[in-house]
Amino acid sequence: MPVSPDLEHLLRDASLRVTPPRRAVLAAVYEHPHATTEALLARTRERLGSVSHQAVYDVLRALTDAGVVRRIQPAGSVALYEARVGDNHHHALCRSCGVVGDVDCAVGHTPCLTASDSAGFVIDEAEVVYWGRCSACAAPSPTSPTSPTSPTSPTSPTSPDSPT
Ligand SMILES: [Zn+2]
Ligand SMILES: [Zn+2]
Repeated sequence: MPVSPDLEHLLRDASLRVTPPRRAVLAAVYEHPHATTEALLARTRERLGSVSHQAVYDVLRALTDAGVVRRIQPAGSVALYEARVGDNHHHALCRSCGVVGDVDCAVGHTPCLTASDSAGFVIDEAEVVYWGRCSACAAPSPTSPTSPTSPTSPTSPTSPDSPT
């Protein structure tokens, strides 16, 4: 059950003027963790009616810059947004279905920020992505009614002599 945060308070705390698009986008991020820009655009339109892609993009950028929203972009994925900020938690991604899960730091409080050698950098974030398969995809399915079998590989490793 999602807690209903005081969105206007969050925006003001970040020195952001409270506007309907900002409010709607932030609410969408809270309700849909790790959502794509497209998904957040759809949710925002449900609340506000017509709103341009650019407007939502600009709001996400402002919220991210202000630290109200965290943007993650795992390799091979589009950008995802979440409202759980400041705790440097990590993410587990399923290679099969693409679902994203939150993973707390392995031990205690943000130990990953304590690099063994920071090379003089002042580190404020460590990005760790655990790749694997989610519980649903990893579960053995003797009778898989909707087996997501991929079609035959489109690229054959050894292509026969092609006509020149
Ligand atoms: Zn999965
Ligand atoms: Zn997360």
